[in-house]
Amino acid sequence: MTKYKLEYLWLDGYTPVPNLRGKTQLKEFDAYPTLDQLPLWGFDGSSTKQAPGGSSDCVLKPVRHFPDSTRKNGILVMCEVMMPDGSPHESNKRATILDDEGAWFGFEQEYFFYENGRPLGFPESGYPAPQGPYYTGVGYSNVGPVAREIVEKHLDLCLDAGINHEGINAEVAKGQWEFQIFGKGSKRAADEMWVARYLLQRLCEGYGIDVEYHCKPLGDTDWNGSGMHANFSTEHMRTVGGKDYFEALMKAFDKNLQDHIAVYGPDNDKRLTGKHETAPWNKFSYGVADRGASIRVPHSFVNNGYKGYLEDRRPNSQGDPYQIASQILKTISEVPTEGSAMKQAAE
Ligand code: ADP
Ligand code: MN
Ligand code: MN
Ligand code: MN
Repeated sequence: MTKYKLEYLWLDGYTPVPNLRGKTQLKEFDAYPTLDQLPLWGFDGSSTKQAPGGSSDCVLKPVRHFPDSTRKNGILVMCEVMMPDGSPHESNKRATILDDEGAWFGFEQEYFFYENGRPLGFPESGYPAPQGPYYTGVGYSNVGPVAREIVEKHLDLCLDAGINHEGINAEVAKGQWEFQIFGKGSKRAADEMWVARYLLQRLCEGYGIDVEYHCKPLGDTDWNGSGMHANFSTEHMRTVGGKDYFEALMKAFDKNLQDHIAVYGPDNDKRLTGKHETAPWNKFSYGVADRGASIRVPHSFVNNGYKGYLEDRRPNSQGDPYQIASQILKTISEVPTEGSAMKQAAE
């Protein structure tokens, strides 16, 4: 028997942006446990804005687990928060995502490192040299002494955990970085994104650095904001597609604009201004290879007969990938596919 350190992770009840919470329990298993072997657990919801003090018990239900290479026999256990009767807690947005193994998401997480209340590498007062050399840059004056070390360690922690990390790059602003996570199945990429965020924040503790996810931390200046572009596709989009279906899909995205913006992260009007490769938040648009559109249509999509994936550029860095995935699939589900339209006609 081996004693495993199980770090149960969940999202709290803070709005508009939930925080990650985690606590450890030790359990003995013969070998690395399967998900089914991980027990339900509980926590005091009155401390996380998830329950009143009188009846404060919330239930943690393991939904995916990951090896934690920073701890001997460590496992990260991503959980959904449930009510004592077994129904999903209202803060549990993962439970609102349609089950669809054929849905694939790729999230591009941008963020700033913050130290002493300002972006890592900013002088005590004023600003560093203007944006230009930082994006994908190299050298001490561009990235400083420590950011790359953190980013590289984070990459390895994600790979050790089995997270499908796809890449990293230094971003446009000084102290700003990006990583991408891709997953097949409607909930996988979102689960992995939350665990990757957890690993990044925990890693930064030891450096005295915080991760700033706000979409426009430097306000109305010439410094870039942070997004979390959501690339998405379904089985139908990849294998059937077609121009008519695509146009119907874009119509549905246009109609549901408010519902999307509501879950694409707070303060997004400060970022989606219509300038700097963004679309204005209150007007839906799409365009081929257009980085100033709400949805960018890759060249490959058009060249393949309107088949493949699309990039929604509006979600921001603070957005909850569960709510983003949930809303995108909800809008897609409103558009009849040819098959189901024919089926409906036959019925
Ligand atoms: P860019 O910065 O040019 O927008 P990135 O390489 O940073 O591009 O991000 C592209 C994202 O699109 C990646 O996360 C990738 O996994 C994702 N992606 C690629 N193909 C698909 C697909 N078929 N369905 C969903 N996402 C996809
Ligand atoms: Mn990118
Ligand atoms: Mn980027
Ligand atoms: Mn992108």
